[in-house]
Amino acid sequence: MSFIADRLNRILPSQTIAITQKARALKAEGRDIISLSAGEPDFDTPDFVKQAAIRAIQNGETKYTDVAGTMPLREAVAARLNADFDLDYRAEEICVSTGGKQVIYNVMVATLNAGDEVIIPAPAWVSYPDIVSLADGTPVVVQTTAENGFRLTADQLRAAITPKTKWLMLNSPCNPTGAAYDEHHLKALTDVLMEHPHVWILTDDMYAKLMYEGAVAKTFVQVEPRLRDRTVTMNGVSKAYAMTGWRIGFSAAPVELTRQLIKLQGQSTSNPCSIAQAAAKEAVSGPQDFIGEMVSVYEQRRNLVVSMLNEAPGLSCAKPEGAFYVFPSIEGTLGKTSKGGHLIDSDEAFVTALLDETGVAAVHGSAFLTPGYFRISYATSTELLKEACTRIQQFCQGLS
Ligand code: GLU
Repeated sequence: MSFIADRLNRILPSQTIAITQKARALKAEGRDIISLSAGEPDFDTPDFVKQAAIRAIQNGETKYTDVAGTMPLREAVAARLNADFDLDYRAEEICVSTGGKQVIYNVMVATLNAGDEVIIPAPAWVSYPDIVSLADGTPVVVQTTAENGFRLTADQLRAAITPKTKWLMLNSPCNPTGAAYDEHHLKALTDVLMEHPHVWILTDDMYAKLMYEGAVAKTFVQVEPRLRDRTVTMNGVSKAYAMTGWRIGFSAAPVELTRQLIKLQGQSTSNPCSIAQAAAKEAVSGPQDFIGEMVSVYEQRRNLVVSMLNEAPGLSCAKPEGAFYVFPSIEGTLGKTSKGGHLIDSDEAFVTALLDETGVAAVHGSAFLTPGYFRISYATSTELLKEACTRIQQFCQGLS
C-alpha cells in the first residue's frame, strides 16, 4: 500500500506473535489446541514481585520516572549484572526500556545508517532482522549448523565482517535453538572481534539464567573486558523472572551510547511503566532461589521433550544447553503426506498440518531464518507437553 512507509514494507509481522494469536483464536472457537508457539514461561510472576507492584500503586508511584528508569532500578540492574557476570557496570550505563525488544530497537535506530551491516547468526529470533531493516540497516545472516551446535564459529564471523559491519548481534542461550556459548566458544569470537575494532557487539542475554546441568552462562565483556567500550549487554526480567507482560528490559552500555538511547527513548515512549519498574527492582534485587527451582523443572521438561521427539519417525532433536526451546529437524518427514492429506514439502507445511490435524501449535524454522526445522517452547506444563509430544509422534507415524 503506497500510503504506508517503505520501511514498514520491508518487514513482516512477527511470526511468533502471529502463530500464538492464531492458536489463541482457535482455542476461543472451542478447538482442542496445545500452544507450544509462544516463548513465555507458564510460571506465574513470584508473589513478592507482585507485592512490590501493589505497594508502588498504593504509594503513588504512578507518575513519570526518569526516561532511563528510576535510579534505584538502574542501580539494582547494575548490581545484578555485576553479581551474575562479574562485571563492573554503573547505574549511569543502564537504560531501562519497555522489554528487551525496545532495547534492541533503540540500539539499532540510534546507531545504524543506511547500508550499515549487522551480522546475525541464524537460527535467530524472528525480530532481529526486521528491527535491523526498520532501522535502515542490512541484516547479514550467517547460517550456523546443527553439527556446530548451532553456534557461530570464529571462521564464519571473520568471513562475514566487512568495512560496513557495525554490529554482531548474538543471543546465548539462543531463541530458537537453546544453544549456548560457553567461555571457550565466546573467546574464539572475541579474538576475532579484537582484530576488528569497528565492530560493536549486542549480546542478548535474556535467557542467561536458564541454563541446564549446572552450567553457568557467560557474556562477552566478562570473557574479554577490552570489548566493554563497544558492547551492549542486554537482558531483562521477562524470562528469568516470569514477567513477560510487565515489559521490562535493560541495556548496559558505554555512557555515551546510553545517553543517545535515552535521547531516543525520550522522544518515543519515555520511561517504561513506573509500576513495572518497581516490580522489576524487587525481582532483580530480591531472593533469587526460585529461579533454580524453575530451571530444574525446565530441565526435566527439556529431557522429556527431546526424548519423545526423537522417538517420532522423521524428526531429530538435539539436546540444547539452555533457554526453553528445542529446534528439531523435520528432514525425515519431507516429501511425505499426512493422514489428513497435507503434503509436507516444507517446515511451514509441517507446522500448518500439525496444527490442523493435531491442534499442536509450533513455529516453523523459516521464521527463524532456518528452513527444515521447527521450534517448540517447552515453557508449558509437563502434562500438556506429554500430550503434545504424543500427538506429534502420532502425526509423524501417520506420514506416508
Ligand atoms: N520472545 C518470545 C518468542 O520468541 C515472545 C514472542 C516474541 O516477542 O517474539 O516467542
